[in-house]
Amino acid sequence: MSEINYDYIVQYIRALHTPPEDVLLEIEQLIASEKETWPIIKPEVADFMKVLLTMQKPKDILEIGTAVGYSAMLMSEFLQEEGKITTIERFAYMAENAKKNIKRAALEDKIQIMEGDAAELLATLEDAKYDVVFMDCAKGQYINFLPHCIRVLKPGGLLITDNVLHKGAVAKSRYLIDRRQRTTHARLRDFLYTITHDPCLVSSVVPIGDGVALSYKK
Ligand code: SAM
Repeated sequence: MSEINYDYIVQYIRALHTPPEDVLLEIEQLIASEKETWPIIKPEVADFMKVLLTMQKPKDILEIGTAVGYSAMLMSEFLQEEGKITTIERFAYMAENAKKNIKRAALEDKIQIMEGDAAELLATLEDAKYDVVFMDCAKGQYINFLPHCIRVLKPGGLLITDNVLHKGAVAKSRYLIDRRQRTTHARLRDFLYTITHDPCLVSSVVPIGDGVALSYKK
């Protein structure tokens, strides 16, 4: 088994993935050759997001967790004219690499990096501004960031949250979880319960990658 699915299924789906071009391909190759250990979304999650973004036709996207800009650059291909991505990153090393990659891809006019902790920066963002929010940061913070995600989404907007199953641990009893992971386990469960029971959202948890949650704001 891989993290949450059978290996043979994951390998088969990944074999169907069309590799990206240019800077995105270079990032994938640097990671595959283990020259870099940058965290990026998994290929099957990238493909899933491409479908969602094609349907959603976003003008404004908010991302929480830039890392080196891979997913922001991928999402930028689906922006409507004049569309923009705002992406938040608190780790200076990641933000510097993201700036270099975004510059090399000539996407500086479409992607704006906000450097700092989302715990402080989210409060500065305008209400109902974004068509899509992609949350891909510290999993223990998802439940704290959720009210802001809902606030900044337009009605009809989509919240996409990555890594919600935490290698499958979230689906297990807390007594089977290592003590050090129990807080994250409880917070992720709280997050998933909240998005699936909030009357202003329609949500679904999809077991691809490390688990992706989709929440449509009514
Ligand atoms: N979305 C990226 C991609 O697929 O290319 C990967 C993001 S990586 C999984 C998570 C990133 O979130 C890390 O670079 C980490 O430094 C950042 N991060 C975690 N917690 C954060 C927070 N509270 N505020 C801002 N950035 C945060």
